[in-house]
Formats: sequence, structure tokens, C-alpha cells
Amino acid sequence: MNDLFGGLGGLMKGLSGFMPQDDPDVALMMAGSEVSELQKQENELYALIGKQALAQGLVQFPELEKKLQLVQENLSVAKARLQSAQAEKEAKDSARRAEEEARLCPNCNSMNPEGVKFCQECGVKLGAQKCAQCGAPLLPGTRFCGECGASNFSKI
Ligand SMILES: [Zn+2]
Ligand SMILES: [Zn+2]
Repeated sequence: MNDLFGGLGGLMKGLSGFMPQDDPDVALMMAGSEVSELQKQENELYALIGKQALAQGLVQFPELEKKLQLVQENLSVAKARLQSAQAEKEAKDSARRAEEEARLCPNCNSMNPEGVKFCQECGVKLGAQKCAQCGAPLLPGTRFCGECGASNFSKI
């Protein structure tokens, strides 16, 4: 599966350096299960070291410690991957929310279809508003710019 997806995704995503999974939910799920699997391995190694330490009265287990170190290194890589997958998902979610907000009419509250610039119910301009005078972003329904005080009646 890695070969298939890596090959296809690698062609398209190679320049951007993003992970091969396009769907942030899939990436999140995979990173999450990788982290929990490695944490399980870590716990097992700890338990193993503890057991042997008790059985042999020794504290040094170079082989197990090496394994543990490797698992912990992989774990920190997997955790970083999980974090970036979460960040990507949040970015996509907030982009979607912003897109939905932009379609919601500030005047009559009706939800408009994608790509519409003016409310289909009342004709008010949709999307982020900017001050005509200074270009500062205005909240929907704002009448006077908070930056420069210019009247923005005509924009709404
Ligand atoms: Zn409207
Ligand atoms: Zn202004």
C-alpha cells in the first residue's frame, strides 16, 4: 500500500513535502495508531526490563535498552507526525468553517451555495469585507471602519 500510494502521491506531492495522504482524517488515524502501537512496545520493553531486573538482580540490559531507545526514537517521530496531521486537519477544518461562514448572509442569515458572491435571498455582498478607505478587514455588518472610521455603508 505504501508503494502504491507513495508512488502516486510522491509524484504529485514530492515538491511540497507533504505526507502522501490527502485526507487529514486518514493521516490522523494512521499517525494515531502508530503512536499507540509504539507506546505499547515501549511499555512492553519497560515491563521486560523490569522483569529481568527482578529475576537477575541486574540493572543493565544493553540489548533491551537499545531496543527501547529505538522505539522511543520512532515514537517521537510518530508523535511529531501525529501533531502535524492534527495541525493539518485543524487548518482544513477552519478553512471549511471560514468558507461556510463566508456563504452565510450577514444580513438575512440564509446559507448560500458555494462560489456565490452575493446573497441569493437579499443581494447583500458575501464574504470578507474590507474597508473601502484603508483596506482593514471588516466584520460582516460593520458600518464604520474600526481602523480609520470611514463609513462603509455602501459595501454592505
Ligand atoms: Zn441575505
Ligand atoms: Zn478603514
